Amino acid sequence: MLHIGCHLSVSKGFYHMGKQALSIGADTFQFFTRNPRGASAKKLDLDDAAKLNELMAQNNFAPIVAHAPYTLNACSADENIRNLAKTMMAEDIKNLDNVSNVLYNFHPGSHVGQGVDIGIEFICQMLNEIMYEEQKSIILLETMAGKGSEVGSAFEELRRIIDGVNLSDKLGVCLDTCHVNDAGYDIVNNLDGVLEEFDRVIGIERLKAIHINDSINPLGAHKDRHAKIGEGHIGTDAFERIINHPYLRNLPFNLETPNDLDGYADEIKLLRGLYHE
Ligand code: FE
Ligand code: FE
Ligand code: ZN
Repeated sequence: MLHIGCHLSVSKGFYHMGKQALSIGADTFQFFTRNPRGASAKKLDLDDAAKLNELMAQNNFAPIVAHAPYTLNACSADENIRNLAKTMMAEDIKNLDNVSNVLYNFHPGSHVGQGVDIGIEFICQMLNEIMYEEQKSIILLETMAGKGSEVGSAFEELRRIIDGVNLSDKLGVCLDTCHVNDAGYDIVNNLDGVLEEFDRVIGIERLKAIHINDSINPLGAHKDRHAKIGEGHIGTDAFERIINHPYLRNLPFNLETPNDLDGYADEIKLLRGLYHE
């Protein structure tokens, strides 16, 4: 079965997202752990989390994805911003110990001109300070488009982060189809080759989740503008190959396309129709 869902708003709580996911034919979903533009998180409602856990178990949900705010930058040149990233992430992974079957995804960061080496060093430093042996969630590094000074648009950079983290058995990768296209990996004409490269550089067993987005921009544009499925440079045929690829077909896919709930329901239906059971 195709495990698919979309990005949902956490504003009405965890259980509400679970019900919403079911209503659009999803068996996974993603949410921001806090307002993406702000820093503050609502205090975790333990009852609400327990109700979601029950709903997910009853309905055989695939792992869900908690997304760190995209303003979080672990490798800023500003120490205050780096510390804020650390505080937020430490709080998030602690909270997520109360949610079952959840992956915690974040954008590795932007080095803002300090260079990739320093960026990677800061990212590893942060992860080494906040991760702990008993944490329940796996932390995912997202593949980035390479916009500005983003770290993580090359598989080699993600490999270096993994190599620099002590508890790296709790690290994985989330592959964003729009981002890898924009980073220059040709998943349209050479999906096998790209995934073989991923396997060679990172190890395919690290791949835990997919963000399934079309891209407004062509291969290698380094832009990061998501399009609806079939309305960008990746196209529906490529997505059919992506969701059915033996390396990918059992992973949770989450849409981050520009859609309202009805639009997401349509895309989920479209993709389920393209899946070979
Ligand atoms: Fe993301
Ligand atoms: Fe993404
Ligand atoms: Zn993006």
